[in-house]
Amino acid sequence: MKLLTPPAALVLGAVTALAATRVLAPQDHPVGYKDTPLLPGTPWHVHDPDRPLPAVVTPGLNGAPPSDAIVLFDGKDLAHWKAGGKPAAWKVESGYMEVDGSGSVESAEAFGDVQLHLEFATPAKVEGESQGRGNSGVFFMGRYEVQVLDSFENRTYADGQAAALYGQTPPLVNACRKPGEWQTYDIVFRAPRWEGEKLATPARATVLHNGVLVQDAQAFLGATAHRAVAQYAKHAAELPIGLQDHGNPMRFRNVWARRL
Ligand code: MG
Repeated sequence: MKLLTPPAALVLGAVTALAATRVLAPQDHPVGYKDTPLLPGTPWHVHDPDRPLPAVVTPGLNGAPPSDAIVLFDGKDLAHWKAGGKPAAWKVESGYMEVDGSGSVESAEAFGDVQLHLEFATPAKVEGESQGRGNSGVFFMGRYEVQVLDSFENRTYADGQAAALYGQTPPLVNACRKPGEWQTYDIVFRAPRWEGEKLATPARATVLHNGVLVQDAQAFLGATAHRAVAQYAKHAAELPIGLQDHGNPMRFRNVWARRL
């Protein structure tokens, strides 16, 4: 590296000082540039002022829905949930819904690619073990399950513990809170794509459990299966999200979705 001679350093220092004190004119900070190269694969220049701006969204506080969310459960009623085509009947109290043995529920609305936030609590009173303890699940498109389970000091098979793609891929880590404590799932689900009747791109899920990355754009092997290898079968582009009744009194609250 060529060292600056003292006079050159003095001159540069003087220019820097001058720039710092000069009042900037509007042309010194334009909202973009058109004399820059094109970004590969796009019609936009680098820093293009004509590139459409992202929509403005007001984020929610502490996990509350952002301004563009579809609120699926706000703690008051099950208006957005059905069970076998009829209104869902799970117990609703104190801002949460609770699995009550009346069967699994599904969202009235259908989704393909979606961001889902939900909070759940496994029973504070620990009963059962392995898959019999705090079992439920989030079923994207009614068939791709992100497991819900009380996996706090509860031994079960790795591909069946909380935040597993059930029967397929264990979570990267076990980020469970204690029984009875509220926990969060933030999931980005990508629906499978088809070419005719054949699978073109598998379904994928990125899952944050209590803010910890536990599935990283992980592909599903197929529709969730028990004691069998999952397989794909062509289905609609959008289908309801299911919450599983597995016989444990699981609680859910603050459920919202954003179409992607
Ligand atoms: Mg389950």
